[in-house]
Amino acid sequence: MTRIANFNAGPAALPLPVLQKAQAELIEFGSYGMSIMEMSHRSKQFMAICDETVANIKSLMGISDEYEVLFLQGGASLQFAMIPMNLLLPGQTADYVHTGAWAGKAIKEAKLIGNVNTIWDNKAEKYTRAPRAGELQFTPGAAYVHICSNETIGGIRFPEFPTTEAPLIADMSSEIMSREIDVNQFGMIYGGAQKNIGPSGMALSIIKKELIERCPDTVSVFLRYKTHSEEKSLYNTPNTWAIYIIKLVTEWMIENGGIKAMQKVNEEKAGMLYNILDSSTFWTPVAQKDCRSIMNICWTLQNEELEEKFVKEAKVAGMEGLKGHRSVGGIRASIYNAVPLAAVQQLADFMKEFEKKNG
Ligand code: PMP
Repeated sequence: MTRIANFNAGPAALPLPVLQKAQAELIEFGSYGMSIMEMSHRSKQFMAICDETVANIKSLMGISDEYEVLFLQGGASLQFAMIPMNLLLPGQTADYVHTGAWAGKAIKEAKLIGNVNTIWDNKAEKYTRAPRAGELQFTPGAAYVHICSNETIGGIRFPEFPTTEAPLIADMSSEIMSREIDVNQFGMIYGGAQKNIGPSGMALSIIKKELIERCPDTVSVFLRYKTHSEEKSLYNTPNTWAIYIIKLVTEWMIENGGIKAMQKVNEEKAGMLYNILDSSTFWTPVAQKDCRSIMNICWTLQNEELEEKFVKEAKVAGMEGLKGHRSVGGIRASIYNAVPLAAVQQLADFMKEFEKKNG
């Protein structure tokens, strides 16, 4: 089999050594006579897998014991609802920063639960940047401040995170573990697993223990962070396979130098594409320069026909997932941790050729 250069936005590329290890362990995990998927989630061996995965995440991200690391179902989308249900109490206001499609979804969900103050909305600039230092005015006494640190569809990210008095909560779905961050700046970090860390359907939530206590008793037991924290993410039957794959991915990251090393390669990969996008007017990058994502690189061409041609010819040349999100069009290359440098080089070479032929 020839593995295709996979630029999908999520589910997305997984490291080949992870898939190979999962394949080797698929039918029998260790010498237990069964696969991970057939094992009780309460068995000693699965609980050990869960604990190791949490330990790997804590060590990779430098997470202190003030935080709980939880595996939750329903992807990042359910977090959009769980956050206000748990943390936005009656009479309080939560600040939300509207940077694009995903922040917008979080806002819509939170408005169903409580008072939301959208303190920044960049619709006028078509969501092509994040707020810059000093631009945000927070609500005094806000319950929390919510941001989407990397907008997957618009291809923008925060150049620096705001300093807030209220706990800062970040949806990091499309950039979690791709660059070094200081977790202590945040009350909570969460993300869908299907981009940088594993299979879809699972959210990783890193939440300060003191926030977990805030949840009102009126919230459904299943939707309380407290429940999952008390039961170490095993309140009900979790997606054991996803947790196991996250373990393998985090092991792969550790073996390859951790997040610092991931970031270095990610910056190199993104630089290769942005250099081309900046080299001629044939390409139009979407994000404003200081807010460019190093995970989702978005651009447009002169017209839709040319964009379609680009995507089609790239596919023939062995590259997939380059069509921009259906809501905005254009072209997007998602180059998460597991997308090899060689795949990005292949895309860069293809882009140069494409420009020569069509420019
Ligand atoms: N937030 C961001 C930034 C995303 O990119 C996505 C998915 N593409 C989501 C939230 C929703 O994640 P899920 O599909 O896991 O619910």
